[in-house]
Amino acid sequence: MPETMVAKHAQWPRVADPIFNISEKAQAAIKSLGKENVINATIGALTDDDGNIITLNTVFDEYKSLPNSEIAAYASIAGQKDYLEAVKKACFKDSMPDAHIRAVATPGGSGAIKLAVWNYTNEGDEILTSDWFWSPYVSISEEVGRKVTTYQLFNEYNNFNFNSFRERFLNIASKQERIFTILNTPAHNPTGYSVPDNDWDKILNLSKEVAQNPEKKIILFVDVAYIDFVKDDDGCRKFFEKFTNLPENILVIVGFSMSKGFTAYGMRMGAAICISSSEDVAEQFYYSCVHSCRANWSNCNRGPMKVLTNIINNPEKYKEYMDEKKIYKEMLSKRAEVFVEEAKKCELDILPYIDGFFISIPCEDPKAVSEELTKDNVFVVPLKRGLRFAVCAVSEEKCAIAPSIIKNALERV
Ligand code: PLP
Repeated sequence: MPETMVAKHAQWPRVADPIFNISEKAQAAIKSLGKENVINATIGALTDDDGNIITLNTVFDEYKSLPNSEIAAYASIAGQKDYLEAVKKACFKDSMPDAHIRAVATPGGSGAIKLAVWNYTNEGDEILTSDWFWSPYVSISEEVGRKVTTYQLFNEYNNFNFNSFRERFLNIASKQERIFTILNTPAHNPTGYSVPDNDWDKILNLSKEVAQNPEKKIILFVDVAYIDFVKDDDGCRKFFEKFTNLPENILVIVGFSMSKGFTAYGMRMGAAICISSSEDVAEQFYYSCVHSCRANWSNCNRGPMKVLTNIINNPEKYKEYMDEKKIYKEMLSKRAEVFVEEAKKCELDILPYIDGFFISIPCEDPKAVSEELTKDNVFVVPLKRGLRFAVCAVSEEKCAIAPSIIKNALERV
């Protein structure tokens, strides 16, 4: 027997997904104790107070009204033309940068990350993101021989740590031609933080400084997976306007996803959207991405493309969709508000939450604390630097009691 049938580059440690593990334990506890006695804060989707996934009727009614042929037929490799226009509107709304903008359809936001990482970095390159991050960034990068390196997201005042960002950014610029940065904002997973507009100015000024060297290529990948669940729809998009008139060697790629905003997680639909002052750079983006699409997944899922297109292009449907989503946005922000308030009362240290599905609690030994919490029938995801609590999946009532339970468990460990 050969030692392994898997090719060398495809051998990875046999580790169980930690989120899957803890979520299985939560399911078992719900089965034996009843859901009212368990706090399952491991789920990454919006659920109602009973833990059932929320689905927007405006989205699924539209999907079910499509003729079979519209779901069954192949889509264009780049995505349907009308979708590519509609997705720009959905993403930028009134804050469309004045630039050359090209979109390519991708299977969810994950597909956009894959396209950008593969086409805009070289083998062995370091990719920069914050020390609190969504772990698939590492899988996607490592799969193709890239490495993720991190800056500290927060300084001692819990503000954006621009000094740390600058230091890491310049370090990469000193040794690589390409400086590829992933910024997951607004409503960052796992903290719920959003990079403030004045810090965006600093990031862009630093990028422009480095871009004075024409040999350097700066790619800012902006992962906006949670943008459609931010309280201030328009305010949270203002930073897009800053991407007007950037030097040609700064390219912005936005990773858009229908998963959260359209409650379409399993439908696998999103887009990579590039923003450049150069038409040629935008065209290059389009053709390199289309090549990768063909080589990886061929075309994407046509049904959800049509759903987004029909909703975005029809003012009446759009209003109904926004009104329906608003109910759940309010539910989410109420849950988070209660959690933050109670955390303050019981002096539980949490990271600055602004919007989004998750709140993070920094701690020393996240695995041990998460394990300890299972004794209280509270299930949270242990990350490298703390715990992730999914306010998207826990009722307001439970969000009110969770902080003090977590505080107690921290004291016991
Ligand atoms: N980025 C972040 C930070 C996420 O949390 C997710 C999903 O959980 C994604 C991107 C992409 O999700 P999808 O591929 O389902 O669109």
